[in-house]
Amino acid sequence: MENKKEMRNWLNEFNLTHPFVIAGPCSAETEEQVLKIAHELKDSDVSVFRAGIWKPRTRPGGFEGVGEIGLKWLKKAKAETGLLMGTEVATAAHCKLALENDIDVLWVGARTTANPFAVQEIADTLKGTDKIVLIKNPVNPDMALWLGGVERLYAAGIKNLGVIHRGFSTYEKTKYRNIPEWQIAIELQNKFPDLPLIIDPSHITGNRDMILEVTQEALDLNYDGMIIETHNDPDNAWSDAAQQVTPDTLKQIFKDLKVRKVSGDTDEFTNKMTKLRANIDVLDANLLELLGKRMKVAAEIGQVKKEANVAVLQSNRWNEIQEKMVLEGGKKGLTEEFIIKLFKGIHQESIGHQERVLNS
Ligand code: PEP
Ligand code: MN
Repeated sequence: MENKKEMRNWLNEFNLTHPFVIAGPCSAETEEQVLKIAHELKDSDVSVFRAGIWKPRTRPGGFEGVGEIGLKWLKKAKAETGLLMGTEVATAAHCKLALENDIDVLWVGARTTANPFAVQEIADTLKGTDKIVLIKNPVNPDMALWLGGVERLYAAGIKNLGVIHRGFSTYEKTKYRNIPEWQIAIELQNKFPDLPLIIDPSHITGNRDMILEVTQEALDLNYDGMIIETHNDPDNAWSDAAQQVTPDTLKQIFKDLKVRKVSGDTDEFTNKMTKLRANIDVLDANLLELLGKRMKVAAEIGQVKKEANVAVLQSNRWNEIQEKMVLEGGKKGLTEEFIIKLFKGIHQESIGHQERVLNS
């Protein structure tokens, strides 16, 4: 990977190249495993070695981490490789132990971000620290919870703060373990433009075959770094086996990733972009115009239904529209996923317009 971007915020201070990489196993399992992986990652684009030693598991009975002893292994790995060390903290006790053992990067896990009391406890314990603190998005797609976590940590005087986008739980079956919902991370980025944004493709995909494509998508969106679970024997990992890659695969991913520049510097680029963007602006205006017209027709339908005293929602009709649009959309190169989302939105807006007519 080439370094092509200006660095955000504290990334310079820690000598982190862009995009900066955190890699290592989901969980520290044994001293031998930690040292083996750290050594394999030493002379690569990796700057920070990660390993979970306290593992919050959704259900009891799973491997909950080796605990405090793992900190000694990380210390040793740091001394032997020079890599910075990172681990997840979820309680005040974890934070104290991590600070005592000179862990460089502490991250707040997705299950913890969902709990404001826990985040506040962490913020109070880390008050004023000069360590790097990263906060993952909460498990549920709630922008305010994530934002609240960032605000609590900032308020505690933590300057070297960043966020990790690890996707969101969903009840729907998708190709992801946790759906990205990119717009939530982008919105957070717009609110805090100086906050380094890191992609966690491992927990988003849950599947090692998709790590490259999701990481590339993030780099295309200007992310600052990545955290990728890496294990010497992924299939036999004690946690998250399906999503971990080997150090060699990780190095291949680095070769395949294309790092984009933030902006182009030639006149030709600027001219082409200006034209294309003007084109997009016209099309967007047309889309809005059309949608406005569609809602007017929906309101008229509402009027007819009102006069006949018929319910707003007609499931058959809605299913017909969906099927037809997925088919037609496919011919125009639009994915089924997009069409369904788009028409769900349109349908909901239509129902709203009809409801207003019916209840007026
Ligand atoms: C992890 O990083 O291994 C982890 C538990 O992640 P998350 O908090 O995103 O589930
Ligand atoms: Mn994991």
